[in-house]
Amino acid sequence: MAKTILHLGSNIGLRNFNLRRAQRLLEKRLGKATKVSSCYETAAWGVEDQRDFLNMAFCFKTKLSPDQVLDVAQRVESKMGRLRLQKWGERIIDVDIIFYGDEVVNTDRLQLPHPWMQDRRFVLVPVAEIAAKWRHPVLGAKVKKLLRNCTDTGHVQRVSGKLR
Ligand code: AMP
Repeated sequence: MAKTILHLGSNIGLRNFNLRRAQRLLEKRLGKATKVSSCYETAAWGVEDQRDFLNMAFCFKTKLSPDQVLDVAQRVESKMGRLRLQKWGERIIDVDIIFYGDEVVNTDRLQLPHPWMQDRRFVLVPVAEIAAKWRHPVLGAKVKKLLRNCTDTGHVQRVSGKLR
């Protein structure tokens, strides 16, 4: 069983509902989450003229291969109606695989660990909440150190209560 972390994001419609629905669909296919982060409202990255995202991360153990986890993630994105219109554009749901154990993968369709995680506060903050001590298998640093060293200044605000 490989310990895996997924990161989810949504900035269309009922963002909180979209995250919960995606988590439920993913858990049905991948297994129950062992740790779930809070939700965070975060500034859109890359294309800034769009609504803020809600992001979260969760951890689970799986027997599936990394490619199979990506298949599941992409099926859930399609089922929820995700359209790929613009790189870094708005989206009902985005599912990224951040870590899959210590695996390092570099194929056309899958890179692990996620190649930009260390550059993005909106990824590092929720991941650090559930896996601060996870050591990045390429960079050699723990997630909490990656977060300390990250120069991204995009706002990341923990959401308490029922934000849509
Ligand atoms: P995005 O638009 O950010 O969801 O990127 C989607 C593309 O990234 C897909 O074509 C995936 O095959 C590819 N990809 C590469 N590595 C990963 C990863 N670790 N997690 C999710 N998608 C990935």
